[in-house]
Amino acid sequence: MSSDKDFRVSTLAIHGGLSPDSATGAILTPIYQSTTFVQEAVGVHKGFTYSRAANPTVDALERALGALEHTPPAVCFATGMAAIATLCLSVLKSGDHAVLGDVVYGGTVRLFQQVLEGLDISCTFVDAADPQQVEDAITAKTKLVLVESPGNPTLKLCDIAAIASITRRKGVLLAVDNTFLTPVVQKPLELGADIEVLSTTKYIEGHNSTVGGSLATRDQKLLDRFRLIRKTLGCIQSPFESWLTLRGLKTLPARIKLHSENALAVAQWLEKHPAVARVYYPGLDSFPQKALAERQQSLPGGMIAFELKAGSPAAIALMNTVKLCSLAENLGAVETLITHPASMTHADVAPAKREAIGITEGLIRLSVGLEAPEDIIADLESALAEVAGKDAAVVGGDKCVATR
Ligand code: PLP
Repeated sequence: MSSDKDFRVSTLAIHGGLSPDSATGAILTPIYQSTTFVQEAVGVHKGFTYSRAANPTVDALERALGALEHTPPAVCFATGMAAIATLCLSVLKSGDHAVLGDVVYGGTVRLFQQVLEGLDISCTFVDAADPQQVEDAITAKTKLVLVESPGNPTLKLCDIAAIASITRRKGVLLAVDNTFLTPVVQKPLELGADIEVLSTTKYIEGHNSTVGGSLATRDQKLLDRFRLIRKTLGCIQSPFESWLTLRGLKTLPARIKLHSENALAVAQWLEKHPAVARVYYPGLDSFPQKALAERQQSLPGGMIAFELKAGSPAAIALMNTVKLCSLAENLGAVETLITHPASMTHADVAPAKREAIGITEGLIRLSVGLEAPEDIIADLESALAEVAGKDAAVVGGDKCVATR
């Protein structure tokens, strides 16, 4: 059999890092639902002792994720936020400073502003679309630069290679949250980043059935540190969630291609609709960073953001009116999900900061699923017509309650 190095990404997603179960021949790694592992003698075991430290099913997912990018096995966590928190506690200590892209998931902002700040770890948010702003924000205390590309929710991109050349020169670690694209579409470590962060909750598992996260790096010392902090905090993923994530991973290359095709069709349709003010999608010619998207991504991805000319009451009314699209917080799954970032994913970001970075009250985020694009478009079309035909307040555009 060829080595993983020779395989293309669709083959790697199915076979990379995995082999049939040696005890039974089961083609899928079994769910090792066991807390503890019996040791042959004191200090003699098969590599597993207690499932807070490591578990064979989680281990299989870690090998599979590593194989996808030709890195050592990744480190998997109970959630994406557990991965990000572990990253921060692994590389930052009291007195240290981090530089963050201004457009990042609201939970990451909350971690820095409401938790790490209390531990005397400071941070500066910059427009990371401009690498110079990242460089200017780095001080002698800076130990980590953390960016998302595309950023949640406005899809703003950062030039990962350009930022990596700055962080390398300055001796600072660069972590890229690649949740919106996955390593199938964009390979941050090949572009020069030190650490790749994933919320596997999204496209990797892809079926709205698990929460999970991972950290990947080629640096063995960092991997050891991540495992130590994970064992200490107790935030490893469960065997069942790892098994579901492994199963989702096998279809990731096929799914993400279709997510991209569907998203392009929906974005092109939205852009032509008279009620739509603007559409943010890296596959559109109108997207200001399209050239960068083409350089560092193999596909534009499945996420879109847009605004309506009638503003936020109409946008909220639209989200309350769609039927096939579900109003929900997740992204990257087979079902199309529509989200109001200002009250949902980014509710903990200060309103003035939200407005300044484009997360307006009227911004709508759409995670385009794998339904027929014609059906997604028909749902949006009839909801837009219903909202236009009525006072937005009648369809709930005047009510908006923050959920997290
Ligand atoms: N990173 C990004 C870009 C996200 O969108 C999210 C969640 O929405 C996270 C990290 C956190 O992941 P989780 O919800 O699995 O904790």
